[in-house]
Amino acid sequence: AQSYNYAEVLQKSMFFYEAQRSGALPADNRVTWRGNSALNDGSDVGKNLTGGWYDAGDHVKFNFPMAFSATVLAWGAIDYPAGYNTSGQMRYLKSNLRFVNDYFIRCHTAPNELYGQVGNGGTDHAWWGSAEVMAMARPAYKIDQAHPGSELAAETAAAMAAASMIFKTDDPSYSATLLTHAIQLYNFADNYRGIYTSAITDAASYYQSFSGYNDELVWGAIWLYRATGDAAWLTKAETYYANLSTEPQSTIKSFKWGLAWDDKSYGCYALLAKLTGKAQYKQDIERHLDYWTDGYSGQRISYTPGGLAFLDTWGALRYAINTSFVAAYYSDAATTAAKAAKYTSFANSQMSYALGNNPNNRSYVCGFGVNPPTKPHHRTAHGCWSNNLNGPPTESRHILYGALVGGPGRDDSYTDDRGNYVNNEVACDYNAAFSGLLSKMIQDHGGTPLTNFPVPETPTGEFLIEAKINGSGPTYTEWSVWVNNHTAWPSRIASKHAYRLFIDITEGLNAGYRPSDYVISSNNAEVTFTPLQQWNTSSSIYYTEVTYNPTIKIWPGGQGESRKESQIRIRLPYEASASAWNATNDWSSQGVDGNLKVVNNIPLYVDNVLVFGNTP
Ligand code: BGC
Ligand code: CA
Repeated sequence: AQSYNYAEVLQKSMFFYEAQRSGALPADNRVTWRGNSALNDGSDVGKNLTGGWYDAGDHVKFNFPMAFSATVLAWGAIDYPAGYNTSGQMRYLKSNLRFVNDYFIRCHTAPNELYGQVGNGGTDHAWWGSAEVMAMARPAYKIDQAHPGSELAAETAAAMAAASMIFKTDDPSYSATLLTHAIQLYNFADNYRGIYTSAITDAASYYQSFSGYNDELVWGAIWLYRATGDAAWLTKAETYYANLSTEPQSTIKSFKWGLAWDDKSYGCYALLAKLTGKAQYKQDIERHLDYWTDGYSGQRISYTPGGLAFLDTWGALRYAINTSFVAAYYSDAATTAAKAAKYTSFANSQMSYALGNNPNNRSYVCGFGVNPPTKPHHRTAHGCWSNNLNGPPTESRHILYGALVGGPGRDDSYTDDRGNYVNNEVACDYNAAFSGLLSKMIQDHGGTPLTNFPVPETPTGEFLIEAKINGSGPTYTEWSVWVNNHTAWPSRIASKHAYRLFIDITEGLNAGYRPSDYVISSNNAEVTFTPLQQWNTSSSIYYTEVTYNPTIKIWPGGQGESRKESQIRIRLPYEASASAWNATNDWSSQGVDGNLKVVNNIPLYVDNVLVFGNTP
């Protein structure tokens, strides 16, 4: 294993969670390319379900993995607070946890009623653009007494119980509120048993809990025990432990998968082993960790040639890192010093692989280290206006600092391909145990956060005008003008778009015409325009201001949606002679011909501010 600046990575990982925020952003938002979004979430059911985290590179709020991410993020800071503290990241961790727990509070609308998803997988995934401007319906889905969902309710209970520990000293009343919700939700999960995807069927295609809910019932009780110190919760956890899955045709607890949003059994083994010191839990966690390291009874997980423990193709790094966190957490309770050393070195090696020590010599964390991914499968970070993940634009416009991507295939191969969500998507759940492990590694190996992070991004190419000469004659010019909205810092929809066409009427004035004699017309009902106005009292330069009607939406949501055309003709009265008209001195005709191109001499004003182009 090689050493990296773990504090810098943790700092960036905290930024990643900020980039995933939905709803109204707090005033201290550090992500210059994010704005408020999804402010109507819950309106279809008469509730306020704003807030929370977008799941991954998409904009669905899938609460089941979201709650898992929140639980594990809190876990890291509960057991390794020093790493967060010395690197200055505790305040960001707390702000992230408060943000997501505020959302869970909103979702918990009655003791036995919990919203568990906002946004529909199919309709959300069908559109590729930024969260701030998305326009699809975002239905809300819930579980209740008649349609229970024990995985979801117990995982949310775990998240809120764990967060209550984080806020206990700083904000006892918030902590108590979280705990009250956690207890109610756990009881809902326990008393009304059901598979949550039977109630929230849309989640079944994305986050079906294959492991069932027994693991969440143990896990939730463990976190309630840790939060309250009440032995009854520990008893419940230990009682339900018997229901955790076993290897086929045996009584041996499952050991071949790993901690992730689906199956928390492996986290339960480690937590109960450390909380109780009992042999059974130690055997169960050590069997699992041995399987992941040098093998258990001749069986061992497969490794890539470059040294990544490889559980599954989708998000392989996440499983390796999650298990590394569990290994690092459990290592100081291992039954032998050799096992302790083995688990620790496993965790170090997997982290080191993710950060750059791999056959591709590249970092798998966006915005960190050598040759990091620049094209993660992430809609808002792409900053796309064309509703096409291949672009335009080809390059992502934002750096999604701190996001761990899915990672390589079984042979260590990897391509930084935005279209590949198996290997190159990012997700809230990928970064959760990752952050906790980083905090522990800061404690063990040190690290220094960057002092100038984050450097605000500089917006470029947000608005532009394209134009061509649509037609011309002896006494007129007609322009075709396209207003483009490519905004991405953040993506936004303006209420007023206007541009100015400037002409020089020296020759018309010499021929005796007045500015009011000039006729302006358009084929488009979508615009209004002013009569010719003098630009500057000492010159004969005049302009018309063309304004799109407020109902015209020009937004970065597709090729057609992001640009709107208007055709404007300026002419002299029909009887005028050609000598009274000269287009060659007209500012807005300079360099403009029959081919559509970007034109700087037609300035664009958005919400009355000059945003593009030059005036004479
Ligand atoms: C989405 C991803 C998702 C994948 C599989 C894609 O369209 O962009 O976020 O992981 O579908 O559901
Ligand atoms: Ca489960």
